[in-house]
Amino acid sequence: MNHFDLRSGELWCEDVRLTALAAAVGTPFYVYSSATLERHYRVFREALDAFPRLGSPRIAYAVKANSNLSVLATLGRLGAGADTVSEGEIRRALAAGIPAERVVYSGVGKTAAELAFALDAGVDQINIESEPELTLIADLARRRGRRAAVVIRVNPDVGAGGHAKISTGTRESKFGVSLAEAERLYGLAAASPDLKALGVACHIGSQITDLAPLARAFALMRQFVERLRAGGRTVDRLDLGGGLGVPYFNQPDPPTPLDFAAMVDEVVGDLDVDLAFEPGRVIAANAGILVSRVIHVHERPEGRRFLVLDAAMNDLIRPAMYDAYHDIRAVSPRTGALTPYDVVGPVCETGDTFTRDRLLPPLASGDLVAFMSAGAYGAVMSSEYNTRPLIPEVLVRGEDWAVVRPRPSYEAMLAREPPAPWLSGSVTTAT
Ligand SMILES: *Cc1c(COP(=O)(O)O)cnc(C)c1O
Repeated sequence: MNHFDLRSGELWCEDVRLTALAAAVGTPFYVYSSATLERHYRVFREALDAFPRLGSPRIAYAVKANSNLSVLATLGRLGAGADTVSEGEIRRALAAGIPAERVVYSGVGKTAAELAFALDAGVDQINIESEPELTLIADLARRRGRRAAVVIRVNPDVGAGGHAKISTGTRESKFGVSLAEAERLYGLAAASPDLKALGVACHIGSQITDLAPLARAFALMRQFVERLRAGGRTVDRLDLGGGLGVPYFNQPDPPTPLDFAAMVDEVVGDLDVDLAFEPGRVIAANAGILVSRVIHVHERPEGRRFLVLDAAMNDLIRPAMYDAYHDIRAVSPRTGALTPYDVVGPVCETGDTFTRDRLLPPLASGDLVAFMSAGAYGAVMSSEYNTRPLIPEVLVRGEDWAVVRPRPSYEAMLAREPPAPWLSGSVTTAT
């Protein structure tokens, strides 16, 4: 459920009319609903809390899904932690008021400088993804005279996820280590005076719409914890990652957080371990939309009808990168028959096609359209390709709204690139 509804023939975000917002902010822009973000977090929290054996797990929101500071602050106030993958994301989480004790740091390529920052900031958990990383973290911790709290990220070799590019749990992917390797690394971490081996983690993919692969991976993690314990190791924490999918309208309805929690309870409910989760998309995706204006409707004589928008692949890259589907709605739908449109942006690449042959109501130049389910992996992946100003983000709460990332001016964009000293000054023509 979300708070983007039609009221008297127009699309609203909570109590804000999108036509009014577009007039005030200019298009294209992203808009997020606070009530929807909060609701999704609470639904996830309450689903886990419905199973007492799970013992109220930690929820570290995956910052990379939508890292806007106001989004992080909204979730942080509800008690969410942050799953981060870079120093920049750790800094964002801290700046948004999420305490370091609720921050998890994951990722295959953490640099020494980033790890040093994480240790100094006092993040709660660092996920180790390889032996060289383990050695580096131990080294950095030793030099600081402290122990780094770590978990070993296991790659359970279970494929899942909505697209090959977002499946992370198979042997061929770059993430984590095999179960056998994880056992060896766990031994090294447990024996190290510079490391505190908290437990183990996995994250097998994103946009997972079937519980079976998750259940299979979690069962393997369970066996692994039992095996480590049988070998005399202490395992306090089991981090089961994120990955739960959301409805994008063209797919079967994904399992609900309650279905997910019931499965978790069945597979690991009696394990006596502190559980942690890292949901991203399921919190943010349906809490945000991208609003864009129609520049032209261009009908080719031979039949194709192009809807040319002022949003492009640099604003929302998911269709070009993952063949992602987004429901597209008219903000003020006109009556009339649905007709097929190829929906495209102005960028000079054929890849700048959001969708082809999409059935939409009649649309004309100047109309507004909304890409639904764009709150996760949307604005965070935007760029200024084609020197298009970075797309702004707006947060709505009831009838209030705020621009939480403004659109830069062209002057500000150009000023970011100081000319090389030998190129500044007046231009002369070679003779
Ligand atoms: C991306 C990621 C997540 C979040 O995935 P979603 O599909 O958005 O829930 C969680 N954990 C890790 C380690 C990730 O890389």
